[in-house]
Amino acid sequence: MTVRRQPLSQTQTRVLDLLSAAGRPLSAYDLLGKLRGEGVNAPPTVYRALEKLVREGLVHRIESLNAFVACSTPHHHDMATFAICDQCGLVTELTDRPLQEQLAAMSSRSGFHATRMMVELRGHCAACAAKAHGHGASDHAH
Ligand SMILES: [Zn+2]
Ligand SMILES: [Zn+2]
Repeated sequence: MTVRRQPLSQTQTRVLDLLSAAGRPLSAYDLLGKLRGEGVNAPPTVYRALEKLVREGLVHRIESLNAFVACSTPHHHDMATFAICDQCGLVTELTDRPLQEQLAAMSSRSGFHATRMMVELRGHCAACAAKAHGHGASDHAH
């Protein structure tokens, strides 16, 4: 069990639960829609909860989707890598320490002090890639 610096508020806990249960990225708007029936009606409340969860390393913001996803694995949160399927929307969090070290070394060689590194890979997940091949690869035309 991990010890958190500060306990999460009720809204923060609900947002984290919803993201964990969804298993896919949700936008702040999606979350607000789900929380509306529970008495959370103010967008700033949801944004603040998301900000806090991102700071605590429990949730990641996927910049290219403008959406949030629950962290799937404990790791150093200054670095996160995501594989995003353009076909079905599946997002997989990948962790690779050597990659993190290489990126840190590369940026410090140029004198840049990176505090946060996000790598987003776009393409097709294993299932969608297999499907495309099985069906004569008809959707390669884009
Ligand atoms: Zn993570
Ligand atoms: Zn897919």
